[in-house]
Amino acid sequence: VVNQKGGVGKTTTAVNLTAALTEMGLDVLLCDFDPQANATSGLGVDKRKIKHSVYDVVINAVTAEEAIVKTKFGDVLPSSADLAGAAVELISSEHREHQLRHSLASVKDHYDVILIDCPPSLEMLTLNGLAAADSILVPVQCEYYALEGLSQLVSSIRMVKRSSNPQIDIEGIVLTMYDSRTNLTIQVAEEVKKYFGSKVFKTVIPRNVRLSEAPSHGKPVIAYDRLSRGAMAYNAVAEEFLKRGGNG
Ligand code: ATP
Ligand code: MG
Repeated sequence: VVNQKGGVGKTTTAVNLTAALTEMGLDVLLCDFDPQANATSGLGVDKRKIKHSVYDVVINAVTAEEAIVKTKFGDVLPSSADLAGAAVELISSEHREHQLRHSLASVKDHYDVILIDCPPSLEMLTLNGLAAADSILVPVQCEYYALEGLSQLVSSIRMVKRSSNPQIDIEGIVLTMYDSRTNLTIQVAEEVKKYFGSKVFKTVIPRNVRLSEAPSHGKPVIAYDRLSRGAMAYNAVAEEFLKRGGNG
């Protein structure tokens, strides 16, 4: 789940898609690859109580199995603040962009879907996410500068395609914080569709306060308020994701 723009709904999408797919009976791992560790706490995992984080897995040779925490909403490979330093530590390593891919290799076959929540940048951590992924999900917030960032993202993806992961491609664009009452939302959505065509999910995520409240309860929205518009939207995204072949 990638977009170098901050606050567009990456973590909200990663957490709630994980929970929705888990509820549908799939085995799902959410790999939190952002030092902010919001996806970790969003699934109810207490950052202060974890033994190992994805940082230890990528840098310190702890195995993914050892670090993974099981929750009733799906498994989590938790993150921690020290992941922020990993970018610098990785610079000196030979396969610096492939560390996450290597780290996940041993658990890849245990899951139907692995979602990686990337931080808001196009630097080393995100490059690791892109090198590890089969495909990319891009949450796009319907606002004025949305498209500007997307062209930069597309060129980064092209670069990764050439250098480290030839099969990578954008699997889908999810429009987030959609407000059908505003012209700007509608205009941006049209522009995004013009550019990305059928890659844009039919389901849009409305702006819904339940989605922003749920993380403070350590729950995905389907567990916090099942009948909210946010919960229904993410269930629909999960269904569309599966129809599109998101489980590989
Ligand atoms: P970052 O770039 O910092 O990792 P992000 O892209 O992961 O951010 P989120 O953390 O998912 O974005 O969302 C940013 C904020 O907006 C959060 O407070 C979240 O609860 C809220 N939010 C996300 N989606 C919605 C929505 N559809 N309706 C209302 N609030 C939302
Ligand atoms: Mg995030």
